[in-house]
Amino acid sequence: MALLFGATSLIRAGSPEASAGHLTVLQRLETAHLQATHEARLRFARERQSLPDLGLFEDFRAVMHVHAEDAEHTKGTRQQVLEAARKTGVRIVMFTDHGGPRPETWRGIRDGVLFLAGEENGGAGLLRFPDFGSDGKPRSEDDVRFLSHIEERYDASADGFVGMEICNRHTLAKLDPSLQEWLLSAAKNPDEWRKRLEDFKVYPDEMFAASADYHAEIFAKWDRELDKRPFTGIGANDAHQNPIFQGTTFDPYEVSFRNLCTHIQARALTEPEVRQALRDGHVYVSHDWLCDPTGFAFGAVNNLGVFPMGDAVAMTGTTRIAGFTPLRAKLKLIFFIKAIVSRLQSLRSLIVRCGRRSVPLRL
Ligand SMILES: [Zn+2]
Ligand SMILES: [Zn+2]
Repeated sequence: MALLFGATSLIRAGSPEASAGHLTVLQRLETAHLQATHEARLRFARERQSLPDLGLFEDFRAVMHVHAEDAEHTKGTRQQVLEAARKTGVRIVMFTDHGGPRPETWRGIRDGVLFLAGEENGGAGLLRFPDFGSDGKPRSEDDVRFLSHIEERYDASADGFVGMEICNRHTLAKLDPSLQEWLLSAAKNPDEWRKRLEDFKVYPDEMFAASADYHAEIFAKWDRELDKRPFTGIGANDAHQNPIFQGTTFDPYEVSFRNLCTHIQARALTEPEVRQALRDGHVYVSHDWLCDPTGFAFGAVNNLGVFPMGDAVAMTGTTRIAGFTPLRAKLKLIFFIKAIVSRLQSLRSLIVRCGRRSVPLRL
C-alpha cells in the first residue's frame, strides 16, 4: 500500500493553465510561473501546522546518493556538503563515492549530522552501504543495497536489493533534458543570459525543480517489486554540484538537499538504526522545498497495536488506516496496486476503516 502526499497539485490549481493540467518544463521556467510557485511555497509555510509527536520514531531528514571529492566530474567538497546539510536541516547524509567507499569518506556524526559512507557502481546500477568492521574497513556482508538509475534497467533483477530509487535527479534530467538545453541556448545570448541569472538568484529552488516530473515506468517497476515483497523506495539526489554554466553552479548542494529528501523514521541518529529503518521501509520521499513535511505519518491501528509505514498489519477486528499531514493536502490511498481505491480529501488527517481481511496488509 502506498500513500502519496502531493502539494504540487495545489500549485497547479493556482496557476493560469490549471484547466489545461500539466505544465511543460519550459512553461514552469517562465518568470510568472516561477513567481507563482514561490508565492505558493510562502503560503504553504504560513499555513503549515506542527504535527503531534506520535512517539514511535523520530523523523530524520536525509539525503541519499551524494557525491563529494570522489571523481573528476564531481565539483563539490565534503565540507560544502556539511554546510548545506546544516542550512537545510538535513540530519543524515549518505555518500555514494564512485567506486567507493573511499577510506577518507566521512562516517559518524559531525556538527550534528550523521554521515554514512557508501558506493555507487554505475555500470551495475548499484548503490551500496556496507557495514564496517571494528578495523574500520567495509565488510562485504550485510550491505544495504539499492537499485539505481532505473531508467537504464526497468527489467533488472532486484535479488539482493532492499529497495530502489523512485526519484533521481539525473534520471529526470536524462528523461527530459529541456532545462539543460534551455540553459545552453540562453548562454549564447548575453541579454537572455542576464535575465536567466536574475531569475535564478530570486528563484533557485523553483528553477531547479522545474524539470521534476512523474515518470510512470519507474513507479511501474516499483509496483512490480512491491507485488512480490517489501521494497523500500528512496529519493536519490545524485548531487555532484557540477552543472556549471558560465561560472554559475545550477545545482548547489543546498538547493539539491531542499529539493529532494528521504525522511528516515528511526529510534536514534545512529548508523545501525538508519540501516534498520531503510531495510524496514520506515521511510518516505518528499520534495521539502515545497513545504516541510516533517512529522508526516501514516499507519494502521487495531486491537493488536499501532503499525507504522513499512510494517505489516494483521487484519483482525476493525483495522483503521490513519494519515497525518502538516498541511491540507490531497491524499491518495492505494490498496494492492491494481485493485485501487483512491480517496481524496482536503484535510490534514485521514482515517479509513478497512475491516477484516485474511492476509496481512503491508503498509
Ligand atoms: Zn557521477
Ligand atoms: Zn551518482
